[in-house]
Amino acid sequence: MAILDTAKTIAELAKKGMTVELQEKIVELREEVIALKEENVQLREENLQLKQQLNGYAKGNLCPKCKKDTWQLEESKPHPIMQDMGIILRTYKCSQCGFSEEYDYTPKGH
Ligand SMILES: [Zn+2]
Repeated sequence: MAILDTAKTIAELAKKGMTVELQEKIVELREEVIALKEENVQLREENLQLKQQLNGYAKGNLCPKCKKDTWQLEESKPHPIMQDMGIILRTYKCSQCGFSEEYDYTPKGH
């Protein structure tokens, strides 16, 4: 890792007392720290997105179209044809892309 090499060089220069080179190396080190911080922020954002997606997979509520964690139950009503059998028609809709689908649902005990 470049940052560790720079830190090592700084330690060596400090022993020799080479002030100008030492200052240059410290500036270099600061730049590397800033770059690492930026990379860290990007990785955190990416990690958060992945966690949300994983959570969506675990709950089974990912939109089939856009794959976002915004797939929600919109409506639940008796099935127009099979309501005598206790079957319910559930409408799911994605609040992100607007895609929707209907599913037959059989409650327990039927
Ligand atoms: Zn969607």
